[in-house]
Amino acid sequence: MKGLIKGLGVTLKTMTQKKVTYAYPDVPLQMPDRFRGIQHFEPDKCIVCNMCAKVCPTECITLTGKPNPDPDKKGKIIDTYDINFEICILCDLCTEVCPTEAIVMTNHFELSAYSRDELFKDMKWLTDNNTLVRKENNSALPKGGAKKDV
Ligand code: SF4
Ligand code: SF4
Repeated sequence: MKGLIKGLGVTLKTMTQKKVTYAYPDVPLQMPDRFRGIQHFEPDKCIVCNMCAKVCPTECITLTGKPNPDPDKKGKIIDTYDINFEICILCDLCTEVCPTEAIVMTNHFELSAYSRDELFKDMKWLTDNNTLVRKENNSALPKGGAKKDV
């Protein structure tokens, strides 16, 4: 009897305390501002410098460029840009090194899939992944970009 009363006491006390669990996935999780989530890519800002692919420790970025169709502009524009999320470790190095912020981290973390093939994301998917871009990246730089302060 003593144990029952003690147990009920613990239950009543806990009922009034703040919940430490989340109703996920019914209620979306709010991730911290500096969370390193799945990248968003903006093709118009990419200058095809290849820095992100070179710095990537798992070599999961593949990209190709093509000549700029505008004869008045030099350089290349991006043609294909893919990330293999089977091996991406979301280390943030690609976004840190990008001089134009064409690639930025988001707060999006849901990538579960039934097939490994679905973890291979192309430029369209990465461009459309724009709903949880960090505020600091959302306003972002003008198209064509400018160098980050270091
Ligand atoms: S987050 Fe890291 S592992 Fe993933 S693509 Fe960028 S550099 Fe590569
Ligand atoms: S995403 Fe950034 S770092 Fe990668 S090729 Fe484009 S401009 Fe260069």
